[in-house]
Amino acid sequence: MTEPTQNLTDGFHLLIDAFKMNGLNTIYGVPGIPITDFGRLAQANGMRVISFRHEQHAGNAAAIAGYLTQKPGLCLTVSAPGFLNGLTALANATTNCFPMILISGSSEREIVDLQQGDYEEMDQLAIAKPLCKAAFRVLHAEDIGVAVARAIRAAVSGRPGGVYLDLPAKLFGQTMDADAGQQSLIKVVDPAPRQLPAPDTVSRALDVLKGAKKPLIILGKGAAYAQCDDAIKTFVEKSGVPYLPMSMAKGLLPDNHPQSASAARSLVLKESDVVVLVGARLNWLLSHGKGKSWGDTAGRQFIQMDIEPREMDSNVEITAPLVGDIGSCVELMLDGMGDNWSKPPQAWLDQVGDKVSANGAKMAQRLGSDTSPMDFHTALGALRDIVDQRPDAMLVNEGANTLDLARSTINVYKPRKRLDVGTWGIMGIGMGAAIAAAIETGEPVLAIEGDSAFGFSGMEVETICRYNLPVCIVVFNNNGIYRGTDVNPTGDGDVAPTVFVKDCRYDKMMEAFGGQGYYATSRDELSKAVNEAMDSGKPSLVNAVIDENAGTESGRIGNLNPQSVVSRK
Ligand code: ADP
Ligand code: MG
Repeated sequence: MTEPTQNLTDGFHLLIDAFKMNGLNTIYGVPGIPITDFGRLAQANGMRVISFRHEQHAGNAAAIAGYLTQKPGLCLTVSAPGFLNGLTALANATTNCFPMILISGSSEREIVDLQQGDYEEMDQLAIAKPLCKAAFRVLHAEDIGVAVARAIRAAVSGRPGGVYLDLPAKLFGQTMDADAGQQSLIKVVDPAPRQLPAPDTVSRALDVLKGAKKPLIILGKGAAYAQCDDAIKTFVEKSGVPYLPMSMAKGLLPDNHPQSASAARSLVLKESDVVVLVGARLNWLLSHGKGKSWGDTAGRQFIQMDIEPREMDSNVEITAPLVGDIGSCVELMLDGMGDNWSKPPQAWLDQVGDKVSANGAKMAQRLGSDTSPMDFHTALGALRDIVDQRPDAMLVNEGANTLDLARSTINVYKPRKRLDVGTWGIMGIGMGAAIAAAIETGEPVLAIEGDSAFGFSGMEVETICRYNLPVCIVVFNNNGIYRGTDVNPTGDGDVAPTVFVKDCRYDKMMEAFGGQGYYATSRDELSKAVNEAMDSGKPSLVNAVIDENAGTESGRIGNLNPQSVVSRK
């Protein structure tokens, strides 16, 4: 350390300066020991500090901020329990390939390491490590610059993900010479460098695509994250290949695009002979690229564009791996396609087109329904029309039936407008995602929430009101998880495990904090309420009463939920 002089800086200020120097100007978190003053000082020094009611939602907000901006979202928590709450979001961000940095205060190293029982004692670094891309601890103020630089690089380079930064309480108050401190900071040059795929891998991919009789493109959220929207649109259109967007890739091309095969999903998975994966993994969401949903797999070839080399062959053989950033992969493919690329055989396009029209017509009829009480399609039909009129609005969606049915019925027209439960299919991302969407984009947000899903982050309604965010939450209230009709077979006093308080009023929660509550029992009331709420730009919550008999067990993934077939007296 340099000699202390009149001009001192400390850990608090060095951290703030390091973040600001790297364009990280927003922190999502929950104050408390030992990071309260850090939040205050960050705000006083021009950072935006958004305080939540629970760290998990602050973490989910940071992850979504990372997804939307390609800069790591920052989440700030207290030690042990606050850290653990934030860790769920960090692990989820890593699983989803969203860049974020979880910054947690921690107790004194000497006491933690000797396990002498400090306030909120926990070896946080060790616990975080297996759940994120990288984890660092900073013990000296002069290392803050390096630590922040490494955290940023780890979060955004290659496959993005979560990084943990452990900051013991003592670090914040450490002082050092202000000039030396300033010089110790690093402005990261090119934090996520382009990664070009090797030329021979591009030719190989083009050869495979050229030979296809029934090609299919699948766009994933890696493609949406990459922000090379024009190149992707050009690639899809020039190839003439039918495409499927994964849920968060909806809107990369408008969902009403003539090449969208969403309404013919089962057909194209079963029949395709060459599949081009663009930033999408062959995980459970794509039935691992094999099995019943994929029909006869013999002879099917996969081309995969991904920045992570180890993703290749994760589930099935990848004939043509293209390792690189999506923008570079797609641009080099486009170059190689030249000006005379021939479209897929017309017979295939007709087969897909016919299915899309037939299924589209069926769906349109269902969405036109006006049942009383509302079922999912009645309510979603109303919301679909509203989103059609508001293509700039951000859409957040979670639940079981509310998620599955909204995903397939509500069109998205622009990239990165849809935020949902992601790779893990978790509940609880709703309010964190809605808050980050509002803060990061400035656009109005429509959050379509199952009543159960909403409950996980419902208290953040206060946060939405406190920051006066343009968020309209629609709670699909069907009195329970999946549906509200389960009964306790023993006839005992307790209700069934999936049932909530009947006919409760989530709209009153919003009113309790000064926002606008609405209660809607019909399609017409729902439309009016949501339109009014979206026009007002005020925090609002619409309690949409849904038939408690509507809804299926686990939505579309009931097959993952084992059910007993043994009957016992
Ligand atoms: P989805 O759930 O939409 O199918 P996944 O999260 O499964 O999407 O897949 C996203 C993939 O995109 C991951 O394998 C990740 O490595 C990759 N990816 C993320 N960002 C980029 C990028 N900039 N360039 C290339 N690949 C990327
Ligand atoms: Mg429900």
